[in-house]
Amino acid sequence: ADVKETFSFQTEVGQLLDIVAGSLYSNREIFLRELISNASDACDKLRYEALTAPKLAANAEQFAIVLDVDKKAKTLSISDNGIGMSHADLLETLGTIARSGTGAFLEALKEGSKGDLGLIGQFGVGFYSSFMVASKVEVITRKAGEDQSWLWVSDGKGEFTIEPTDRNECGTTVVLHLKKDAKEFLEDARIKHIVRTYSDHISFPVLLGEEALNSASAIWTRPPKEVTEEQHTEFYHHSSHAFDTPWLVLHNRVEGTVNHTSLLYVPSMAPFDLYDTERKSHVKLYVNRVFISENTKGLIPSYLRFLRGVVDSEDLSLNVSREMLQSDPKLSKIKKALTKKVLSELKKKAGKAPDEYAAFWQNFGAVLKEGLIEDPDLQSKLLEICRFSSTGSDSLTSLSDYVGRCKEGQDSIYYITGEDSKKLEQSPQLEGFNAKGVEVLLLSDNVDEFWLQHVTEFEGKTFKSVTRGATELDKIEDDQAKDDDKDSSGESDLADLIAVMKVELGDAVKDVRPSKRLTSSPVCLVADEGDMDANLERLLKRHGQ
Ligand code: ADP
Ligand code: MG
Repeated sequence: ADVKETFSFQTEVGQLLDIVAGSLYSNREIFLRELISNASDACDKLRYEALTAPKLAANAEQFAIVLDVDKKAKTLSISDNGIGMSHADLLETLGTIARSGTGAFLEALKEGSKGDLGLIGQFGVGFYSSFMVASKVEVITRKAGEDQSWLWVSDGKGEFTIEPTDRNECGTTVVLHLKKDAKEFLEDARIKHIVRTYSDHISFPVLLGEEALNSASAIWTRPPKEVTEEQHTEFYHHSSHAFDTPWLVLHNRVEGTVNHTSLLYVPSMAPFDLYDTERKSHVKLYVNRVFISENTKGLIPSYLRFLRGVVDSEDLSLNVSREMLQSDPKLSKIKKALTKKVLSELKKKAGKAPDEYAAFWQNFGAVLKEGLIEDPDLQSKLLEICRFSSTGSDSLTSLSDYVGRCKEGQDSIYYITGEDSKKLEQSPQLEGFNAKGVEVLLLSDNVDEFWLQHVTEFEGKTFKSVTRGATELDKIEDDQAKDDDKDSSGESDLADLIAVMKVELGDAVKDVRPSKRLTSSPVCLVADEGDMDANLERLLKRHGQ
C-alpha cells in the first residue's frame, strides 16, 4: 500500500512525551546513549536470528552503528544494520501500546526525588528521550527477511505517521531534527565525548564518519583491572535496566572443563521483581560474544536471582536452540562454578565488611535462604553466610558466633518465628530463655519456616523452636544464682489450677502443663513435639493449604 497512516500515541505515552519534550533537563545528552543502546540491541538480535536462519546472515559479520551529522539540515542520525522493525513492530514498540515501564516512569517523575529523566532507559522507554533534543523524529527501518521498508515520523505531539519507503538493507536509521537550542549535538567533539562517556561498553563499533569512537570490545572480555568503576556502573545500568550502583562486582575468567567469563553485579537495591513467582534469573548468556538470552534457565540458581550481568562461554554450542542449550550439561557445570564463586565472594565480604554485608542481607537474605531448601549440597556453605537477628546481639549474627556464645549444656540453636522480629522480641515464649541468658534467633522471613524443615544442624547443634513442647532449658546452666528457692507448695497449687484450666479449655488445647519457660507472663501457647509450629500453621493457612 502506498498510503500514509496516522496514529495517536497511547494516552500514557502521550503524557510521557509531553514531559520529555517540555523539560529543561540539563543532562539531555543521554538521548544518544539510548539510541546507541537500541541500535546495539538490534544488532544483537539479528546476530542471534542469523544463527538459525542463514539467509539473514549476510551482514552478520560487519555490524556497526553509524552516526551522521548534516549541519545544513540540522540533523543527527543514528543508523544500524540490525534486525529492523516491521509495520507491526513499529506500532507496538513506538507508540500505540504503552510499554510496561511507561506508567512506572511517569510515577517516578511525579515522586520527584527518583524522578530523574536520565533514568528513562531503565524504564524501557529510552527511545522517547529523542524528543528532549529533537522537534521531529524520523525512523526509517526495514526488518531482516522482509522486503518492505517503513518511515515513521512524529513531532511528539500526540500523533505519528507510518508510510512505506525505500531502504536498501535491513536495519534502522533514526533521524533527529534538532531543536534550536540543541545545535551542540551537531559538533563532532561533543558527540565523541558523549559516546566515550556513555557508550564505550557497546560491543559494536560506533562510527562517526570513518572514525570508531568506542573500544568496541565487550566490557567483560577486557582485563578486569582495566575496567573502571564508572564503566562498570554504566554497563550495569544499561545491561540490567538498573539505576543503583552495584554493591559488588565479580569479574572472572575460568579456564577449565568449560571455559567461561562472567561479569556479575550484586545490586545495592532490591530489584522490583525479586519476589515474582517466576523467580527469573537476569544474567545474560552469551556464546562467544553472541547474545543468546536474557533469562536462561539453568544458568543461575533461582536463589541467586538478584544477580545481574553476563556470562560468556566459547564452549557452548551456538547452533542449538535456546531450549536445547538449557539442558546442555556444560551449562550446569558453569552454573555450579558460578554459584560456588558467588557464595565464596559473599563470605569474604561478610568477613571483611560486616556492615556492608548487613545491607546486602537486608535486601537479599530472604532470597538466599531459599538455597537452603533448593541446594542441599551447598547447605553448609549457605549457612555460613546467613545472618540473623537474635536476642543475644544488637547487630545481625552469624551462626558460628551464636554457637560461640552457647551456654554449657546447650545442644540446640533456639529460634522463634513470626512476622516481625521486633514483636518477636517481646514474646512471652522467650522469658525463660532470657532469664537463663540463652540466646534465641528471631526469624521473621516467610522462608524461615520452610528451610528449617530442611536443615538439621549447624556445627553439631540442632535447630529447635522455643514454641515446641519440652525444651531442655533445665539442663542449661543458669546465669543467675543456682540456689533459687524451690517453692514446692507453689507446684501443688499449680496442679489444682491446671485441673480447672483443662476442664475449661476442653478440646481447644491438647494439654496444660507447668513450665519454666515463663518468668513474668502467666501462660503461653506452645506446639507439641511433632506438631506443626504455630507460625507455620498460620503461613500455610494463609496460602490455603
Ligand atoms: P527498550 O530498548 O528498553 O526496549 P526503548 O524505548 O529504547 O526501550 O525501545 C523500544 C523498542 O523499540 C525496543 O525494544 C525495540 O523493539 C524497538 N527499537 C528501538 N530502536 C530500535 C532499533 N534501532 N532497531 C530495532 N528496534 C528498535
Ligand atoms: Mg532502549
